[in-house]
Amino acid sequence: MIDGFGRKIDYLRISVTDRCNFRCSYCMPEQQSFLPHRDLLTYDEIMVLVGRVIAHGIRKVRLTGGEPLVRRDIEVLIEALGQHVQKGNLDELTMTTNGSRLEEFAPYLASAGMKRINVSMDTLDSEAFRRISRGGDLNRVLAGIHTARAHGLDIKINMVALKGENEDALMPMAAFCAEHGFDLTLIETMPLGAGVSEREERYLSLDEFTAPLRERYDLHPLAHKSAGPARYWRVEPLNLRIGLITPMSHNFCDQCNRIRLTTDGKIYMCLGSELHVDLRTALRSGTPCDVDHLLQTALRLKPQRHDFETQLAQPDLRLARHMNATGG
Ligand code: SAM
Ligand code: SF4
Repeated sequence: MIDGFGRKIDYLRISVTDRCNFRCSYCMPEQQSFLPHRDLLTYDEIMVLVGRVIAHGIRKVRLTGGEPLVRRDIEVLIEALGQHVQKGNLDELTMTTNGSRLEEFAPYLASAGMKRINVSMDTLDSEAFRRISRGGDLNRVLAGIHTARAHGLDIKINMVALKGENEDALMPMAAFCAEHGFDLTLIETMPLGAGVSEREERYLSLDEFTAPLRERYDLHPLAHKSAGPARYWRVEPLNLRIGLITPMSHNFCDQCNRIRLTTDGKIYMCLGSELHVDLRTALRSGTPCDVDHLLQTALRLKPQRHDFETQLAQPDLRLARHMNATGG
């Protein structure tokens, strides 16, 4: 799959549910409505679509959401997708999770052939964690992370930079990740979704967020590339690898290799754009040919870059869709 700007698309993110047991203050409002169950793709439908995108060249799949581990019987989908990895149809199956249900599900992830997962954790202070996630229990997340590690999964911690909320959490998080051999990815907030007014007040560039880290440690740029948009650095002498995701302050769209399948079966070509094709309608009323045709159409829709800067400056241009609907 090559898009209109010559980018090779080989990575699909699937939002398996828009629901979540947390309400992170930068992700969604406290009172969030969710899709009715009939609108969700069934696991069978997801597997049909995954078969088609593999035929078109997708090599890597990440499950996300919402919180993927709150969807009922998610282990059934994980196992079915794992068979594509075992057969060599996919190079990688992975997941982004808030970690709250990892203790229970880590064995399923490992046995499906997942090698590594991203766990979101914005602070190691349990009070601050509860406040930012609006109710999350840090100890459960930590227990989940250690269970996943014990099952052989590599862990990358995702941490969003939040002005006035977690600047003081970076140094302890760096030490924690170094101690346990986890990677750490730092993320700038993106202006996605209505009703999250405090997010703009909380925006902090990673240049500012990482200043204390750079003062205390040496950061060496790494050539390492993952399938994602992060730029990597080695923090010495901590021996920690950090990735910086800077959609706002340093654009990375020219490297973009991904598309996103939403919970209700739409393929969005960019997190920051409304352009999409509706595969669920094609699947429920048409034939696989329609799906193939729509996938090719989607490639032509992929914009050259997001326009979060304009959306940040002009609230009326902001997308109503939240991160949990498209899949972060
Ligand atoms: N619930 C899972 C989790 O939190 O890891 C998966 C879905 S969540 C939408 C995926 C990632 O997006 C998380 O690391 C979260 O911190 C991040 N995220 C959510 N809203 C964001 C926003 N507006 N800007 C930047 N990152 C965001
Ligand atoms: Fe849920 Fe993840 Fe959004 Fe937090 S960031 S509310 S855990 S989907």
